[in-house]
Amino acid sequence: MNTSTFHIVPLPTEIADAARRLVKAGAADHTFITVDSPGSSPCRHCLRWAQPGQRVVLFPYAAIPSGHPYSETGPIFVHVNECQRYSATNEYPTDFRSGRVFRAYDAKYNIIDAQVMNGREPEAVIESLLQNPDTAFVDVRSVTHGCFTFRVQRA
Ligand SMILES: [Zn+2]
Repeated sequence: MNTSTFHIVPLPTEIADAARRLVKAGAADHTFITVDSPGSSPCRHCLRWAQPGQRVVLFPYAAIPSGHPYSETGPIFVHVNECQRYSATNEYPTDFRSGRVFRAYDAKYNIIDAQVMNGREPEAVIESLLQNPDTAFVDVRSVTHGCFTFRVQRA
């Protein structure tokens, strides 16, 4: 479904590439994982599930930068091998249409709302959060593990 009210913000390529360099350099907080089950390891760069047998880098990412009450750093995956950054930014990524929670933040990085899908399509949840004029962006996270998946900004 296309939308004119928001766009998808995948992880920047510079951050994925830095993680790939750091894991190869042996950084203590970066590690290689070989994926063993489908639907377990979302790549934040191409916004696809990594497939069993593929290797990913696991590393901490500050989705909400330090210096704020809601600052948050948590574990994310990217493919070890180069992958194409998600480019259909006006379409909600098909791999993550379930199992997500949607957190609305204001421009000062405060959480001002959070919703689960409750039988709705993800676009409907995002539209509903954006109806609040204080919503600056929406972060999409795993409803079970809590990990950051991608950001949604107003178009
Ligand atoms: Zn990828």
